[in-house]
Amino acid sequence: MQTIDAFDKQFQTEDDCKNFLMGMRWPDGVRCPRCKSKERIYVLKARPFHWVCCNKGCGERRGYRFSVITKTIFENTKIPLKLWFKVAFLILTAKKGISALQVHRVIFGEESTHAYHTSWYLCMRWRCAMKGDVMPLTGEVEIDETYVGGKAKNRHGGRTNHHGGKNPPGVGGPGTAGKIAVIGAIARKGMIIAKVIENTDTATLDSFVRQSVSTQAKLVATDEHSGYRLLGRDYDHRVVRHSAGQYVVGTTHTNTIEGFWSLFKRGIIGSYHKVSKQYLPLYVNEFAWRFNNRKNPAMFADLIQSVSR
Ligand SMILES: [Zn+2]
Repeated sequence: MQTIDAFDKQFQTEDDCKNFLMGMRWPDGVRCPRCKSKERIYVLKARPFHWVCCNKGCGERRGYRFSVITKTIFENTKIPLKLWFKVAFLILTAKKGISALQVHRVIFGEESTHAYHTSWYLCMRWRCAMKGDVMPLTGEVEIDETYVGGKAKNRHGGRTNHHGGKNPPGVGGPGTAGKIAVIGAIARKGMIIAKVIENTDTATLDSFVRQSVSTQAKLVATDEHSGYRLLGRDYDHRVVRHSAGQYVVGTTHTNTIEGFWSLFKRGIIGSYHKVSKQYLPLYVNEFAWRFNNRKNPAMFADLIQSVSR
């Protein structure tokens, strides 16, 4: 990933951004966003980055007019692409997360009279866009849940657990009041899939694993939560008994995903302070996306491409 100076140099004008977007969106030539055709597309000379599609049935007599931002998230906002891009860049390079307020200050300065709402809106739109479709995980996979929000101290089996309190087997026991559950599956040295869940019953945990992990996975490591007890039918399921003080038994451990949770939680506490249930899925997106692209030098281009197709 490039430095912010290199980024600013690359995207100095709206046209720089539009040219980049064009390349990402239509690498093999301009295509009509409506009929998807590359034929009978004509440049509108008086309007840069605008075209007209004259294919039969696409538009009326005058044809269908479109621009480089038509049918992308950049459409209908009147927000310059330069600002969209800069916000995305700041989010992607903030390993520990960055709040909309921090983004706003970096771009406009402390004393700015620019509307904060725009920065906030752009942060939210980008987090939404960071969905990232990940193929079912293979190899050595770890599954774990964590809880966000609510009171800082929670008790689990008579002691405070190292990731901030766990549900006892079943649904929302004592100590989980006001907390939101997030579940994740991580392939060691690979990708993560994470999402907010409504509860931690067996149906929820079991179906998450079945959607996220290939049955070809070499092993699936979890803790002793009873919600995982049926996995042995289809997976090589290994259980680490945290309640018995067990943390690593050979390849049976959940240290990788716990590392991700601690990054995620420090990010939430450090950058966003408080997160409502409504927006938590967006922060989960953001952290998972950044994690999955941690070694991808083209992550900015990939993100732009993913929202312009
Ligand atoms: Zn068309």
